[in-house]
Amino acid sequence: MEKRRIKLSIIIPLLNEAESLPELYERILSVLKTHPYDYEMIFVDDGSNDHSWKVLKQLAAKDPRIKAYRFRKNYGKSQALHLGFKEASGDVVVTMDADLQDDPAEIPEMVRMVADEGYDMVSCWKKKRKDPVLKKNLPSKIFNWAARKVSGIPLHDFNCGLKVYRSDVVKNISVYGEMHRFIPFLVKQAGFKKIGEKPVRHHPRKYGKTKFGSDRFIKGVLDLISLWFLLRFSKRPMYLFGSMGIIMFIIGFISVLIIFGVKAYKLYHGIPTHLVTDRPWFYIALTAVILGIQFFLAGFLGEMILQQRHRDGDYAVSEKIN
Ligand code: UDP
Ligand code: MG
Repeated sequence: MEKRRIKLSIIIPLLNEAESLPELYERILSVLKTHPYDYEMIFVDDGSNDHSWKVLKQLAAKDPRIKAYRFRKNYGKSQALHLGFKEASGDVVVTMDADLQDDPAEIPEMVRMVADEGYDMVSCWKKKRKDPVLKKNLPSKIFNWAARKVSGIPLHDFNCGLKVYRSDVVKNISVYGEMHRFIPFLVKQAGFKKIGEKPVRHHPRKYGKTKFGSDRFIKGVLDLISLWFLLRFSKRPMYLFGSMGIIMFIIGFISVLIIFGVKAYKLYHGIPTHLVTDRPWFYIALTAVILGIQFFLAGFLGEMILQQRHRDGDYAVSEKIN
């Protein structure tokens, strides 16, 4: 029996990439032609103010397998990907940047890894990166190192635009904020374990310039901290906040004992004493007690939010019988 043809959904988020689009389309097409895939291309125009949308309209008029969505304003790459994931109908989902830096020639091998080798997701690895060294390469090395440590996922290049997924993976993750840098993290959190990478050729940007400023790394680090937290404590926030609260309470309690102990001792023996508020221990006790209560409150709030989610039954079921 002939194997069913795989359908690819190729998702391309774009912001002001009008010059690149025709060439990008041709290059993807020339790769797809030589392989037995069905496909759809999903372009998401993330609020461009050049003539990207016009170019997309022209392309779509020629090729009915092109779908295009236009955001009314610039929501960000994550939101564009999120929409693409929702609309994708293929068995295997490919994402790539629109700026011709990713090479479509890498797609078939990555698709093969997903379709035949059972990978949930394969990310590209820009081994020889064609971007400015100090502006991007070095910070991104440090960033990727931190992301590996925190997530335990052995990828060299978390934020590489070219990624290939099995379809149910993208249907079970929610890319929000600027989380596109951490999709492998989200994939792991959703319970998919087989995450791989493939070294790819990378090209310098041909037209236009990068859409992300140098604040990308600060944002990246902050997102990394949130993810670390979510990965470790999102199931039981009280374990983290409760234990910090208890430590603070113990510090506060001991400080109070010391203050009153010393005061009582001195009063009893008729030794002249300072006011309690003149002693550093008083402030330590005060701060510790207040912080302790704050931590407990944070823990309770976290637990309440979780409980709400459990009530909504927000779980990803991967298979079902009857
Ligand atoms: N992009 C987008 N919305 C944004 C910023 C970027 O859709 O708000 C697209 C952009 O057009 C490109 C991809 O995301 O197709 C990657 O962006 P860029 O090449 O600027 O990132 P870099 O390669 O510098 O990391
Ligand atoms: Mg780029």
